[in-house]
Amino acid sequence: MKHMRERTIFLADCQSFYASIEKADHPGCKNKPVAVAGDPARRSGIILAACPIAKSFGVTTAERLGEALRKCPELVVMRPRMQHYIDVSLMITDIYREYTDLVEVFSIDEQFLDVSGSLHLFQGDPIAMARSIQQKVLAQTGVWIRIGISSNKMLAKLATDIWAKKNESGLYVLPSANVPAALWPQPIPKMFGVGSRMAAHFTRLGMYQIGDIARTPLPVLKEKFRARFGKQSDIQAEVMWRTANGLDDSPVTPRTFDAAPKSVSHMMTLPRDYAEPGEIDTIFLGINIKICVHKAKKPLIA
Ligand SMILES: [Mg+2]
Repeated sequence: MKHMRERTIFLADCQSFYASIEKADHPGCKNKPVAVAGDPARRSGIILAACPIAKSFGVTTAERLGEALRKCPELVVMRPRMQHYIDVSLMITDIYREYTDLVEVFSIDEQFLDVSGSLHLFQGDPIAMARSIQQKVLAQTGVWIRIGISSNKMLAKLATDIWAKKNESGLYVLPSANVPAALWPQPIPKMFGVGSRMAAHFTRLGMYQIGDIARTPLPVLKEKFRARFGKQSDIQAEVMWRTANGLDDSPVTPRTFDAAPKSVSHMMTLPRDYAEPGEIDTIFLGINIKICVHKAKKPLIA
């Protein structure tokens, strides 16, 4: 086994990305509930993003506009400007690249950063570095980012989703040594790659918390999976077991896509042609988000 030194990985997530951009561009709406909807003229349009004020009225992403207006009649509804959101996403990626060249676009509003090689510039203090990034993004784009910090991508993502998003600071460090204390008491549906169906399977296996998976010896978990899903399920059992134990050695990889931009336009109406790999990344990941929203499932780490 090759020796792996402990890495420092950030997952930076933009809060209410599309809505935050619209609010930054419309200062008059600063204290108003704002949502971006697919087709503001039709009440059957879908909410793509809602600002925190709108969310406090119960407005949620992916619900119908009519439903949102029923909860919040004063909702300011804006038409999406995808090109602009892509541009802001690329601008944010450029800010991250001032801190490390290892930036992986995970979706239009989420990116992984491996800062292991540059953390010494902040005296090895990941919170100081994360705060610097957060303030720079806020000053330049008006978007508030939350950063989960850990030793791998999966734990960084969990640190963001479970803790950093709820922290006033928007920052949270999850040391890998804290996995049993922090991660294991969490309900299984909070685990990566676990949708409602898989969660129901675990319930039937008598497993409710992430620790119930983590503490099951892998050969036993494989047996339980085989009994439910057949003998093809060994890999899935191992993925679940590794995830529950906080294990993930996948690198932060600055992504490039070879696919021709034209093939994208079959699936999504784009404001213009795209050639830059970074732009194509963002569009693909934007599509990925839409599919995930449609299925009401969280995107998986590749
Ligand atoms: Mg987000």
